Amino acid sequence: MIAEKMKPFVRNNSAIRVMFEEGNRLKKLYGAENVFDFSLGNPSVPAPDSIREAILELVNSEDPLVLHGYMSNAGFEDVRETIAQSLNRRFQTSFHARNLIMTVGAGSALNVILKTIVNPGEEVVVFAPYFLEYGAYIRNYDGILVEVSPDTRTFQPNLAEFAGKITAKTRAVIVNTPHNPTGIIYSEETIIELCRILTEKQKEFGSVIYLISDEPYRELAYDGVQVPFLTKYYANTVVGYSYSKSLSLPGERIGYLAIPDEADQSEELITAAAIANRISGCVNAPSLMQKVIAKCVDEACDVEAYDRNRKALYQGLTELGFECVRPQGAFYLFMKSPVPDEKAFCEAARKYNILMVPGSSFACPGYVRLAYCVSYDTIIHSLPWFAKLAEEYRKG
Ligand code: PLP
Repeated sequence: MIAEKMKPFVRNNSAIRVMFEEGNRLKKLYGAENVFDFSLGNPSVPAPDSIREAILELVNSEDPLVLHGYMSNAGFEDVRETIAQSLNRRFQTSFHARNLIMTVGAGSALNVILKTIVNPGEEVVVFAPYFLEYGAYIRNYDGILVEVSPDTRTFQPNLAEFAGKITAKTRAVIVNTPHNPTGIIYSEETIIELCRILTEKQKEFGSVIYLISDEPYRELAYDGVQVPFLTKYYANTVVGYSYSKSLSLPGERIGYLAIPDEADQSEELITAAAIANRISGCVNAPSLMQKVIAKCVDEACDVEAYDRNRKALYQGLTELGFECVRPQGAFYLFMKSPVPDEKAFCEAARKYNILMVPGSSFACPGYVRLAYCVSYDTIIHSLPWFAKLAEEYRKG
């Protein structure tokens, strides 16, 4: 018999995962080249050669008792120092090893920080559309998700509504930029205003409100658009990073939390987060991958293939008359459904073996998400089928 708390999760098992299974079924039936599966954010660019080389070198040369052994719950000290220095070089921050906690990807980083700071009944504000797992993560600690509705004009966070959603019970705000599912990058202007509101509200309520920056797509930014580094704008910022997308390592489960010294009672916060990492059951992030990351810390993300896909898909779909949010980062394109019921639109697309995720899976109905981390050929071959789909809606 499963716990009551699990029952809603079983009932609403992630639509994206269900679609992933459906994609595999269709590929078996029709052949992979005839299925246009835009459902899952699984990188299509292989991990760089330096990752394989680092793995081989480490397993052949390191003391296996160290390489595969337990270490501090926060991770290997030398690895954390290497990452801290890399961040300092790139973003003019002042991190040390003590500010970093290696985690089992961004999902775990979010769980660790929420476990560290959220008391039952406290609120965590998120901006729709958002990665729906946030709701599950917040409920893991009996927190309450408070949603800010989308600004469908710009898909920047709706700051006018945001200010009114912060209460004495607000413990944290989660932002994600570059953004899943829209591909939008929050502008510096937006970040400055968001941080101004947070500073004002902390004063008003005499509370500490953390800004949690969920950054698995930081490296995936196009056209030279800058992604502001949020600890520089607001002291109570905690960054959750992941190598899942930037180095194409989602199955390896490696990322980190960065907690700056400027954060309120940072020493206690960092100690508590390292303990949360342990008692969440992760104990520590995978040891071999930590060492691999240290060796490849300045490896650039190969964004060219995604950029090529982005341009081809955006251009192809807009030429067909679909209304799309122009992606600036990540590898997602958010498209307006031609009918209010976007699930019906996704169903119609499935006839042509096109798989897209309904916007309601991101608390934003009326839109669909296409993950363009697929082969370029998939994009090009999908366009004639999208043309048929567009034709259906033109006929009304
Ligand atoms: N946050 C967002 C916005 C994501 O899109 C994802 C994964 O797709 C995650 C967090 C989780 O990433 P990870 O694989 O590092 O746990």
